[in-house]
Amino acid sequence: MELNLNIPDIVKQICHKFNAQGHQAFVVGGAIRDILLGRESPDYDIATDALPEKIASIFPDAIPYGNFGTMLLVRGDTKIEITPFRNDAPGRKPNYTFGGTIETDLARRDFTINSMAYDPLSGKLIDPFSGLDDLKARTIRCTGSTRRIWEDPLRALRAARFQAQLGFTIEPSTLYSLKAHASMLRTISRERIRDELVKLITSDHPFDGLVTLVVTGLLKYMIPELMEGMGMQHHNKPYDVLEHNLLACKYVKNSLHLRLAALLHDVGKPRCAAEGSNGLEFPDHHLKSAEMAKSILKNLRFDNKTINKVVLLIKHHMFKYLADSPISEARRLISKVGWENIYDLIELRKADRLASGFDEAVGPGLKKLIYDLEELKNEKSDYTIKDLDLSGKDLIEFLGIQPGPLVGKLLNILLEDVIENPKLNRREILLEIARKHLRGGSLCE
Ligand code: ATP
Ligand code: MG
Repeated sequence: MELNLNIPDIVKQICHKFNAQGHQAFVVGGAIRDILLGRESPDYDIATDALPEKIASIFPDAIPYGNFGTMLLVRGDTKIEITPFRNDAPGRKPNYTFGGTIETDLARRDFTINSMAYDPLSGKLIDPFSGLDDLKARTIRCTGSTRRIWEDPLRALRAARFQAQLGFTIEPSTLYSLKAHASMLRTISRERIRDELVKLITSDHPFDGLVTLVVTGLLKYMIPELMEGMGMQHHNKPYDVLEHNLLACKYVKNSLHLRLAALLHDVGKPRCAAEGSNGLEFPDHHLKSAEMAKSILKNLRFDNKTINKVVLLIKHHMFKYLADSPISEARRLISKVGWENIYDLIELRKADRLASGFDEAVGPGLKKLIYDLEELKNEKSDYTIKDLDLSGKDLIEFLGIQPGPLVGKLLNILLEDVIENPKLNRREILLEIARKHLRGGSLCE
């Protein structure tokens, strides 16, 4: 079939150079899939009958990359990976051999939508596995045989990830294979699992991909703790604990730390569950969830910055704010999470509400908080001890007290007062308040 696909000139020129030297060169895999879908491709793969030495002689600036004879070319912002046709028969432990054809190369790719090749010079699409039909039908199907999943279980995660990214359906036999080989995920490194999870949850359809992970059993080998919530009913929500977590991930704004925080925000509920007067209750589940999220994310080798942010959001996700809460409550919340996290916390609450069956993301309490935050912007304070107009040193110097826990206690009391009334945040006033507390004798060292 001939098509006129929008391949960047720079990629065309590379193919042209191969042709001029008597070689074949095709654009293959994800780039063809993305272009056919009208999406921008972030990178390009070229498959060729030229062997690595020949590729290096045609492109002296090509950098050897990986184990399979791949050479990397960088042209401006575009990365192009050039790989000789693979000839190994698909199998569990393929021995990588060169000297294949474009057909043998395509046969060892994962899904039909990723197993097409395009010659940008002739416009010919090579599509032995009817990838174009599957693309039109929005279907993810193993190339050739569902054994592709058994050969490389990472492909199971790739299937769920493409489902989430593209909004496609996984064909039943392929879906069966995901389930049949779920436990093989044990052999995949945590880093590779993390990378696929990140792509899946930061997609347009995270819920669909997550449900696939659940029903195939794959999630058990990624985040088993989440599975503890399956079937566990809330007395006040139409969804069980697991589905509520997955839905929160779907509804929250698309950024990695928010999607992770939403996915894990109630992961600790099953371990806190206790029978209450209205059904199951989950006392202190925000603390348990934060603790568990930390170890889950560590285990998946997330970086500390992401972990800390996610844990903080989960820890504070049960904050109370009512339509008649005084503005000092907003200062108190900022004092706990900082301005840099407060709006993320609001986003998390919005998602939590939608995932609890509320029609509106913003209820009266949240509305008041957002309003109060606008008011507070002018105060330009984080409401921490550092923002006080006096330090522990000042207390020691002016009040003649000894360094020790009393200083910390006094500073916290002063901070509370300033949160209630920021006008008090002047050194002289604060010293006076501290003196009063000392005289009152309610503070003992
Ligand atoms: P993305 O770039 O969004 O991750 P992609 O499909 O382009 O998606 P790459 O990792 O860039 O994925 O791989 C490029 C191509 O290599 C794929 O389209 C597919 O044809 C093939 N491929 C990648 N990983 C595998 C795998 N585990 N098994 C078989 N073929 C694979
Ligand atoms: Mg790619």
